[in-house]
Amino acid sequence: MRIVKSVGAMQRLANRWQVQGLRVGLVPTMGYLHEGHLSLVRRARHSVGRRGRVIVSIYVNPTQFGPTEDFARYPRDLKRDLRLCRTRGVDAVFVPGDAEMYAGKAEGQYSTYVAEERLSRGMEGASRPGHFRGVVTVVAKLFNIVRPELAVFGSKDYQQAAIIKRMVHNLNFPVRIVGAPTVREPDGVAMSSRNKYLAGNLRPQATVLRRSIQAVRAVVAKAAMPVRASGLKQRVRRVIRTAPAARLDYVEFFDPDTLTPVAEVARGTHMALAVFVGKTRLMDNGRMSLLSRLKTQ
Ligand code: AMP
Repeated sequence: MRIVKSVGAMQRLANRWQVQGLRVGLVPTMGYLHEGHLSLVRRARHSVGRRGRVIVSIYVNPTQFGPTEDFARYPRDLKRDLRLCRTRGVDAVFVPGDAEMYAGKAEGQYSTYVAEERLSRGMEGASRPGHFRGVVTVVAKLFNIVRPELAVFGSKDYQQAAIIKRMVHNLNFPVRIVGAPTVREPDGVAMSSRNKYLAGNLRPQATVLRRSIQAVRAVVAKAAMPVRASGLKQRVRRVIRTAPAARLDYVEFFDPDTLTPVAEVARGTHMALAVFVGKTRLMDNGRMSLLSRLKTQ
């Protein structure tokens, strides 16, 4: 497994693989890898085949963090990440430093950003101004550096995956975006590097996100008609209140393709929520089942 630290070396390696006609799949991450990330690695391997090349990028991108957010204390453990990548058959890990990714920034000579302007407005975009500008910029840069045939993104970050798909489509990147389902802990909590922050009695309280989604799903599956989103939001607030350290940041019901909020929730509607558990901000999302529980009875 190659460990590549500079943009130039990554570009040279990617060029060589491209000239050799090898299929390349990219898995962008911020590291502190868990089974969710590793499921994306498996998905990339499945897509490019045994003879293809799988690249994992590990980079805690400063431009997607707000000034009061957890950039400095974001969990990092490169040694462990490299070991995990090696055991999962990753071909190369791209680990650039800030001076590589944003060369010239300290001297005021980095001034180009990529912004998606519609899907980024709500939810995470509203809660974290500038977040998606940072995400879209760094992903565009990674695509230019690695020039992968495909890149795998988790549905755990549903809005992010939708925005990246839009960016690729709008800016004609020759990259196929592959989505992968959310991997969960046995109690239903979505795996996340930030779960590390959840000490002591905070960890069990993290189940409120998944429990909120399941509670809403049960109502929608039983209903004969679409259900008002405002009532379902109240229901989510009630579930969140069962965890004393939890505070709802937002909950939204929306069309899964356009991310447009809906007032009436039906089968196939998507929901996403962000909740602070203690000081840690967690996210989750899920689709309302297409099956009616009335019909299946
Ligand atoms: P991150 O390192 O948090 O930026 O995540 C890197 C990639 O892994 C993104 O595409 C995430 O959506 C994906 N990811 C994070 N957590 C999970 C999970 N629990 N299941 C599946 N994919 C995930």
